[in-house]
Amino acid sequence: MQIKRKLTEREQKLLQILINERNKGIQEIAQLAKTDIHDLKTIIDSAIDELDLSFLNQNKEIDCTLISAYNEKLKNIEHAIDRLAEGNYGSCQKCGQPIPEKRLEALPFALYCVNCQKKKEEKNKEATQRSYPMREEI
Ligand SMILES: [Zn+2]
Repeated sequence: MQIKRKLTEREQKLLQILINERNKGIQEIAQLAKTDIHDLKTIIDSAIDELDLSFLNQNKEIDCTLISAYNEKLKNIEHAIDRLAEGNYGSCQKCGQPIPEKRLEALPFALYCVNCQKKKEEKNKEATQRSYPMREEI
């Protein structure tokens, strides 16, 4: 991961959140895979988009499904870091307002601010109600 331009203070904080999440994910995989974390870091750094999980199959006790899920999460984190590098991370995809750091800490892949998310959920709810009318409406 290389970011060439100078990051704002907020972007630096967000990057730190993402890197923390990334390290947590790598640790989880290392624990599940019972692999030395340094080996795993090298593997992940060299091929984040096509992490070779074949080394896991040597040990049948390992839950590959769970590891794949963590791997998926790591990929999402990488993409978020790429977006941050391009200046496209951390603002609401709908209204363009910056998403609060607290929210991103809890949900690093949040695409919408709380308001837009709520509106979206309400719309979804309305749509569900419309397709399944209440008894009184029939
Ligand atoms: Zn918004």
